[in-house]
Amino acid sequence: MEILLKDITLLVDPHKGVAKKRVNIVIEDDRITQIGSNAKLPSPEYVIDGKSLIILPPAINSHTHLPMTLLRGYSDNKVLNEWLNDIWAIEGKFNAKWIELGTKLACLEAIKAGTGGVFDFYFQESVIGRVLAQAGIRGWLGAGLLPSAFVDQGGLESQLKDFERVIRDVKTSSLLNAAIAPHSPTTVEEEHLLQARDLAAKHKIPISIHASETRKEVLDCEEKHGVPPVERLDQIDFFQEGTKEVVAHCAWITQREVEILGKHHAMVAWCPTSAQKLAYSGVTPIPELRKAGAVVALGTDGTASNNTLDLWREMREGVNMVSFARWDPAIYPAEEVLEDTHWSFRNYFLPESQIAVGNKADLVAVNFHTPHLQPIHNVVSNLVYAANGSDVHSLVVNGTLLMHKRNVLSLDEKKILDEIETKVPDLMKD
Ligand SMILES: [Zn+2]
Repeated sequence: MEILLKDITLLVDPHKGVAKKRVNIVIEDDRITQIGSNAKLPSPEYVIDGKSLIILPPAINSHTHLPMTLLRGYSDNKVLNEWLNDIWAIEGKFNAKWIELGTKLACLEAIKAGTGGVFDFYFQESVIGRVLAQAGIRGWLGAGLLPSAFVDQGGLESQLKDFERVIRDVKTSSLLNAAIAPHSPTTVEEEHLLQARDLAAKHKIPISIHASETRKEVLDCEEKHGVPPVERLDQIDFFQEGTKEVVAHCAWITQREVEILGKHHAMVAWCPTSAQKLAYSGVTPIPELRKAGAVVALGTDGTASNNTLDLWREMREGVNMVSFARWDPAIYPAEEVLEDTHWSFRNYFLPESQIAVGNKADLVAVNFHTPHLQPIHNVVSNLVYAANGSDVHSLVVNGTLLMHKRNVLSLDEKKILDEIETKVPDLMKD
């Protein structure tokens, strides 16, 4: 696409505040070709007029389960095990058709909140990948491995087949990346954890896993193996040189486990809203993880436990949760949580993560011409503590304009919402 952004304000580095005011950005095909006050394009397909727009790299959701949008608000105010029983009863009915519809709704919601990509963790990821490619956002397709579950649908054998399809399908789109996702060190046996690790190494792809989400899970692991979950993973050599690991939650980890994650330069995908709502009470030790060398990135978890995919809301919940729990308003400053939402994941996974001439064009435009974002004493402060997903004006991923002036261009918003309204009641019937 040929896109001209005019008179925008560019936030290049969260720690340095605004780097450039009143500049133009030119996008041609999938790349940024000019940035500057005189940058121009003779006949752009789209012009984004940006006097009140702040531009920054789009956030990437480090941990979610996209098709679970179908279960938003279905079961609330329950402890994890009771909640899971409610959810699994319906998820057992999820065929490819439901997974596709749930993912369409998720993509629509993500784009409207300015999210440029997701690391998903589910089953039938090849179906999810097709929708992500159509929606135009970047996807890491974490093919779920949980041999004890979905036995009626073929269990491990069908999960490995889905993984093979993912490996094949990602070659069809530059937006898609394969990944493997064994459920957790307490629900997947050692043999299959190591099988997943070896598949990740063989295909040179990342591996994702849930760990230390609840205190019960930690106690169960200690009873069975004598050590807590992350230490258990280290004990069986789950972390491999050359493989990128995305460990979700880590809400109940010890300092020793913080050091393990730091030593392996693993990514911790923490999900503060889900933790608060399901009342796990554990707070991921973000300052210690950052200091130890782990990569911290924000995730929403699935919409059945959040209940949205809005990473702006998540950012505010997360930063306040850490300050509140630690009695220290300076322990996790706004610049750091903005970095962990809009930069860390990109820097870890994408070779061209920054908004710069020659790089792939990924950017989100936030409209500051609105009461709750004025006055602007500090752009970073307003983005972290006051902005919402609905303030996103436009979104560009890989040079394609996916939303302009809040109109989604890559998906048919009306059609998807109509389908959700008419079809989802059937899913809930016995
Ligand atoms: Zn999860």
